[in-house]
Amino acid sequence: MKAARLHTPGSPLQIDEIPTPTIGENDVLVEVKYAGLNGGDIHFIDEQYELSQKVDTHSRHFPITISHEGAGIVAEVGKNPRKDLKVGDRVAIHPHISCGFCYFCRTDNETVCENKAVIGFVNPWQPKTTFGKWAAEYYKDGTAANYIRMPSQNVYKIPDNLPFDQAAKLDILGTAYRACKFAKVRPGDTVVVNAATGGSGVPALMLAELFGASKIIAVARNKDRIGRIAKLLGSDIIEGIGSDENITQRIMEITRGRGADSLIDYIPRGGGKSFVQSAYGVRQVGRIVLVGSPGAEEVSISYRWIMVRGVEIVGTRAHSGYEYDELLNLCDRNTIDLSKLVTHRFSLDKINDALRVMKSREGDPIWVVCSP
Ligand SMILES: [Zn+2]
Repeated sequence: MKAARLHTPGSPLQIDEIPTPTIGENDVLVEVKYAGLNGGDIHFIDEQYELSQKVDTHSRHFPITISHEGAGIVAEVGKNPRKDLKVGDRVAIHPHISCGFCYFCRTDNETVCENKAVIGFVNPWQPKTTFGKWAAEYYKDGTAANYIRMPSQNVYKIPDNLPFDQAAKLDILGTAYRACKFAKVRPGDTVVVNAATGGSGVPALMLAELFGASKIIAVARNKDRIGRIAKLLGSDIIEGIGSDENITQRIMEITRGRGADSLIDYIPRGGGKSFVQSAYGVRQVGRIVLVGSPGAEEVSISYRWIMVRGVEIVGTRAHSGYEYDELLNLCDRNTIDLSKLVTHRFSLDKINDALRVMKSREGDPIWVVCSP
């Protein structure tokens, strides 16, 4: 089968001919129809060199098939299959493989499982248990291939009305969904989304409106792009602020001096200033949800401001399995329309072009997918 693999960190992906994966008794083999790409893949490809210097066992994982988002058809089930799963089922892939037995899994916090493996990545954390080490290697390969091996509990049957290219992006949608839940967005709320025009920020705009927000303040580098995205979403409640403006002051003007009810922050690396300015635009007893990817960046925010105003700050990453189910219900009932977000489709052979378009934002991409 064909697979887009990273051989050397920082170099272009290579399309390799490799054997189709074998599966274990609790696995399924999925024929990938679409693999989704996002900023996490770009960071992974570009920053692995830096990471490989820190983690001594890193290089043994290369080459690796990239991409952790995907959807397709069940092509084979293991000897011990889930009773509700059969060959031919249409499924989306949940890329976060948790152990189910660590303290965090047992306390309903699978997103921070100590033994977590994520397909398409070499995990920067080093699992301590035998299971964690095994899973990180056995399930390392991602969806940018004709087939992928997955634990059967990590595939979700998708409704007939959900096309594969949209289902391939459910992971990033799930991250935004969980962020809206953590922000406790309620009808009538004003929600600030920082880094609002990326592939993660745009679904947060869409979902905040679904949760009932009556005003969404989108902060981004390119204000024109905010306008184009609001138009694309058909939303008349999105107001844009450019990162170069006085963000706090603008939020206060829009909210008539009270501040926003919540901030969902997706800052990219190096974007700390826009986070701090957006945070100071949150009202008393408001909520700040950190879901960006700033690497090791430290930001400075007033201890007294948080304490006196009773502001809640919470971090989250990814999403849980049951949130996947909740999202699929929304898709099944046509409550959300993801068709507008899939803007670019490439064949697997052109995956390096897809990554280039994502970086340059040429042609205004939101969600980019590849078809093997
Ligand atoms: Zn666990």
